[in-house]
Amino acid sequence: MFSLKAPSLLAFDKERAEGNLRTIYGIQHVPGDTYMRERLDPVAPKVLRPMFTSVFRQLQRGKALEAMTFLGSYYLLALDGTEYFSSKTIHCASCLHKVHRNGSCTYSHQMLGAAIVHPDQRAVIPLMPEPIVKQDGTDKNDCERNAAKRFVAKLRRDHPHLQFIITEDSLSSNAPHIETLHAYGLHYILGVKAGDHVSLFQHVQAAEHAGDVTAYERHDRAAGVVHRFRFVNDVPLNASHAEVRVNFIEYWEISQDKVQHFSWVTDLRVTKRNVFHLMRGGRARWKIENETFNTLKNQGYNFEHNYGHGVQHLSVIFAMLMMLAFLVDQTQQVCCAWFRAVWTKLGSKRLLWERMRALFYDYAFRSMRQLFKALLYGFQKSSPLVMLDST
Ligand SMILES: [Zn+2]
Repeated sequence: MFSLKAPSLLAFDKERAEGNLRTIYGIQHVPGDTYMRERLDPVAPKVLRPMFTSVFRQLQRGKALEAMTFLGSYYLLALDGTEYFSSKTIHCASCLHKVHRNGSCTYSHQMLGAAIVHPDQRAVIPLMPEPIVKQDGTDKNDCERNAAKRFVAKLRRDHPHLQFIITEDSLSSNAPHIETLHAYGLHYILGVKAGDHVSLFQHVQAAEHAGDVTAYERHDRAAGVVHRFRFVNDVPLNASHAEVRVNFIEYWEISQDKVQHFSWVTDLRVTKRNVFHLMRGGRARWKIENETFNTLKNQGYNFEHNYGHGVQHLSVIFAMLMMLAFLVDQTQQVCCAWFRAVWTKLGSKRLLWERMRALFYDYAFRSMRQLFKALLYGFQKSSPLVMLDST
């Protein structure tokens, strides 16, 4: 359903193409929409984890992740929380809830999303998100910070030897979170803001007066852009946690008509040689919002659409399965020449899914490749003798 971007479970059920589900997806019998919801509701989301790691291992084995390495052998992992469901009436045992002054209640679902990103790569590789849900046996709401703790513990269990640089927005730049990242051997590039990190910025200002801050500029004449940096290593994150020392980068991108300003802290030692790359790593964080959440919301995935809520886990299971479909699609985008050719021809993902669905429901195919070929060359024409690739 999510692979085909069917708009609802009912729509998917009505147009079910059992033959293609068998040949393309290897699914023998698909339950009807009501039965499917009943079956999925009690399923604990953690059973989906091996499917995420299985696709990830295939990407590793196929050397597809090599293009995603950053600053040598690191992977840049962007984390961010997002809300994908909110209601005053519909709720389940996993819902977060907020009681308003007038006694009414808003129920919601959030997740901590994670994706391997790279400044030069359009594709992102999502990992299994950590649901932000009411925890079993408690009445307390969960929060993004707790979810992040659970996430990094599972990340290390799944990938004990991979080297990650975690990149997040300025909400994450607090001492307990940085200590957690450190405890799991994770590097970081985290946003900071003058308004939220007052003592850090005061400290940098004092360092500037003492002549300890390095200024660096790089001119990109072709693009008409000046990259201006100032950085200082080994400063305290804030007054109350002076033992947490960070390296600080402030950056201005100056072009003809505008100036953009960013600042980050990192545990990686900043030098004139690496500051430009660290900046690009910090800025690649937006890909978790733009290339991941916004794609799920606006590119045909119906992320905020309610496929069914259930009373236990259904809503969470659907969100995880949608992310799994997104992972498979991103893998196709990186590894499958047919997928890329069809996408280029049609010009948008939205149109690609639409055409794919139309053919899927009406004609019998032996494989996804045959379906992509039909989309590329037209359905009536026979396939050319010379293949595009030999995979
Ligand atoms: Zn719920």
